[in-house]
Amino acid sequence: MKDYRRYSYWLETAGDLTPRPPLDGSLDVDVAILGAGFTGLWTAYHLLEREPSLKVVVLEAEIAGFGASGRNGGWCYSGFPYPASKLLEEYGRDTAREICQQMYASVNDVGRVCELEGIDAHYLKAGVTDVARNDHQMQHYRDYYETYRTLGLEEHYQLLDRDGVDERLRVARAVGGFRMKESATIQPALLARGLANAVERHGGVIYEQTRVTDYTPGPPKPTLHTARGNVTARAVVLAGEAYLAALPKLRRAIMPMTSHMVITEPLPDAVWQEIGWEGREVVGGMGVTAGYLNKTVDGRIAFGPYRSVVPYGSKITDSLNWQEDIFDHARRSTIDWFPAARGTRFTHAWGGVFGIPRDRFPTMSFDKRTGIATGRGYTGSGVSTANLSGRILADLITERDTVLTHLPMTTHVSRNWEPEPLRWLGTTLVRKSLQRTERIAEKTGKYPDKPTLAQRIWRS
Ligand SMILES: Cc1cc2nc3c(=O)[nH]c(=O)nc-3n(C[C@H](O)[C@H](O)[C@H](O)COP(=O)(O)OP(=O)(O)OC[C@H]3O[C@@H](n4cnc5c(N)ncnc54)[C@H](O)[C@@H]3O)c2cc1C
Repeated sequence: MKDYRRYSYWLETAGDLTPRPPLDGSLDVDVAILGAGFTGLWTAYHLLEREPSLKVVVLEAEIAGFGASGRNGGWCYSGFPYPASKLLEEYGRDTAREICQQMYASVNDVGRVCELEGIDAHYLKAGVTDVARNDHQMQHYRDYYETYRTLGLEEHYQLLDRDGVDERLRVARAVGGFRMKESATIQPALLARGLANAVERHGGVIYEQTRVTDYTPGPPKPTLHTARGNVTARAVVLAGEAYLAALPKLRRAIMPMTSHMVITEPLPDAVWQEIGWEGREVVGGMGVTAGYLNKTVDGRIAFGPYRSVVPYGSKITDSLNWQEDIFDHARRSTIDWFPAARGTRFTHAWGGVFGIPRDRFPTMSFDKRTGIATGRGYTGSGVSTANLSGRILADLITERDTVLTHLPMTTHVSRNWEPEPLRWLGTTLVRKSLQRTERIAEKTGKYPDKPTLAQRIWRS
């Protein structure tokens, strides 16, 4: 059996990881869920909250929280994975506003359930502070703010000048920043493991070490197939995010991409006095040395750089998790941001995969005819989005007519990715070109007036 503690610092410090028993024979239930990450667990939790008598089972190939949910940056973030400006452009003001507000509601729901279920996941609604380190980046934040103003949501956001950033934390070469007040920080593995326990307390059953090999849509009833038996249900929920690409029917529906993190030892008080960051909000930025950052309750800095690997043929292997060049870059970037931390020891480094749909727009849908539901495609921003998926799927499956069941994600179908080798070549070349443009621009201070071809392709 795998040593699950080595998959992230968060999992290592999340208590007992002994797997639950696997499925043992075939079953017929109300709802069968593939995957015990945030999407699967939030769906199970919200189904049981709405209808406590439902028979809900979750089939998990490894252990609850094994995937991205137990390894991420802990940004329980109010931003939807699709840019607010594009939501506004494509779906109009009312829908864009509703999606943003439902994301705030998701962040709050994570806090509510932690409190209600006694899950100590270090949840703190401290917001996000994004730090601009040149004027070009600052202009992006001004544009974001303007979009939220157009949506009438500006009270939830704030532009910061240099002093405003310094009051919160001292980052080398900061010129300003942007606050997103509706976000929170969490210890992700504690949340995933605590949520799994809560699902069980409410009557859900989680079978671990049980890999789904395929699924059959209804009618009559949809089924999840495993080597240990099949589970037939009124509704089957495919909640495996990036890993869904391993199922024969979904090979081109989602593209796995890696993300990685490093974490320091607890920093001494003297270093924290120089850095500040007393609010313990999550922190981010743009550019070559930027990433997503978290300050742990015991005073470590976790840094996730914006560097990734796209596996050829969507093949997810263990070796993807350990990328020394990316770890080195992340360690150097941490010190570039916080020179006061120079000389500090980095204790852990890890990686994981998230899923990207071809058009970057997530799907949270339930097809009543086939009985197949899915929540996926969060493009690396799935901590609170998975909660939204869970709330939406629970409403759809229990046939409620709510504001959630009319959001565009409920009917959205992304087109497929191109077949290999086109997909891998295309995404690799475009991403390399984007990184090169960024590197040159940061060095010279000259940013292209218009989006480059690579930028246009990546956004299309
Ligand atoms: C390093 C990293 C940092 C990130 N940082 C952030 C962040 O700070 N904020 C943010 O919002 N998002 C972040 N993300 C993305 C976020 O973690 C994910 O979007 C989110 O956790 C997805 O949850 P999920 O339940 O849909 O998928 P996962 O957590 O990946 O769960 C899927 C589960 O399904 C199981 N599974 C897969 N296939 C099968 C099968 N065939 N049979 C049975 N079980 C199966 C897997 O073992 C896994 O447990 C990050 C991702 C990574 C990798």
